[in-house]
Amino acid sequence: TNQQFLSQQEKRESSARSYPRRLPLAIQKAEGICVTDMNGKQFIDCLAGAGTLALGHNHPVIRQAIEGVLASYVPLHSLDLTTPVKEAFVDEVFASLPESFAKKAKIHFCGPTGADAVEAAVKLVKTATGNRAMLSFQGGYHGSTHGALSLTGTTDPKKRIHALIPDTHFLPYPYEYRCPFGIGKDGHRVNSTYLESLLDDPESGLVKPAGIIVEVVQGEGGSIPAPVEWLKELRRMTSERNIPLIIDEVQTGIGRTGKMFAFEHAGIEPDVLVLSKAIGGSLPLSVVLYDRKLDQWEPGAHIGTFRGNQMAMATGRATLQYIKENQVPKHVHELGQYVKDQLSSIQSSMRSIGDVRGRGLMIGVEIIDPRKQPNAIGSYPAYGELAKAIQRHCFERGLILEVGGRFSSVIRFLPPLIITREQLDDVLERFYDATVQAEI
Ligand code: PMP
Repeated sequence: TNQQFLSQQEKRESSARSYPRRLPLAIQKAEGICVTDMNGKQFIDCLAGAGTLALGHNHPVIRQAIEGVLASYVPLHSLDLTTPVKEAFVDEVFASLPESFAKKAKIHFCGPTGADAVEAAVKLVKTATGNRAMLSFQGGYHGSTHGALSLTGTTDPKKRIHALIPDTHFLPYPYEYRCPFGIGKDGHRVNSTYLESLLDDPESGLVKPAGIIVEVVQGEGGSIPAPVEWLKELRRMTSERNIPLIIDEVQTGIGRTGKMFAFEHAGIEPDVLVLSKAIGGSLPLSVVLYDRKLDQWEPGAHIGTFRGNQMAMATGRATLQYIKENQVPKHVHELGQYVKDQLSSIQSSMRSIGDVRGRGLMIGVEIIDPRKQPNAIGSYPAYGELAKAIQRHCFERGLILEVGGRFSSVIRFLPPLIITREQLDDVLERFYDATVQAEI
């Protein structure tokens, strides 16, 4: 039963395991948007492998892709040597990019994790510019390795680890609910003007960086979308100063936000694009794509054994094809709007929901403590304990949701992109019941 598996896990696995603590689940099988535990109970999975499973669990096109690789006898692992499976994947990736970026881009296969691709991106821009400082954003998440963790704007995972990368600076992200620099249209301008003054004022402590890394929608930080005007300004100020802009689309990429890539919402392009999660179509894969002008690497500058997982390339290609052929981004955009509208109406009857936000199917509900005093811009203190209680009540009702954000106070909806409106209604109903229950 579930309990037997969980107690074995508790005995044998490390204290650093994370998800099982809040989602005590031993999974027997999974299909579509659902997983079934060892006791036969079904859950709707709105965590979807932390945003990885764009097509849900065990989608037929994913299974076919795996079977195709097995039938073809290509090597399952090929270092970074090329194969027909790999070439077909690269073709598909380039065909998915906006044309002007595709024309100038080169691809590099990384570790297979998002963090490893972030490491590669940082090494790339450091090598190309000769600069050492890196700029990142408060609340951003870029991974768990030393370099990627250095760029991650959350203190908790860092506080017992010394010797993170020096010369890493954090800038304010336009977190509209809490950040005074993020409010309203003019607020975006205030925020970007402030960033510009930090970059230009020698007294600010910022030296010219090797690069700036940003998420278009902060994921782990609490599903916080950056306003389009702010992104445009960020692009302008980095272009004018020749600072490579690294866009980390590990979580937002491949249709999640209602466009193939989230930067397309702002009509901008990165200098370096970091992709993982959904690009592997359920299996481990990560790449960086970058302006060929930055390609000043020596051979072997970023290596690693597992950069040639043919199955992941085949499932990644199948995912990209399915998304394009079935206009998944359009579906995601429409459903995202629908969920936000529904959640906003739930918000009006719930005292503890401070904010509903997101882009596409990357949605956050910020749980607040309405008994406390609001700050100067009217936002209430975060209430992480209540968010976790809501998560627990959802879990009891057969709904898996993630809690994130800097104060662990944001309920995050990250369902598979193929979820239907009817299934979402079911999700919303369970979430509503759980929130009513938790608020009591
Ligand atoms: N960047 C972003 C934006 C992410 O969301 C994540 C993972 N949540 C990472 C990087 C790190 O990816 P990985 O966990 O595969 O190392």
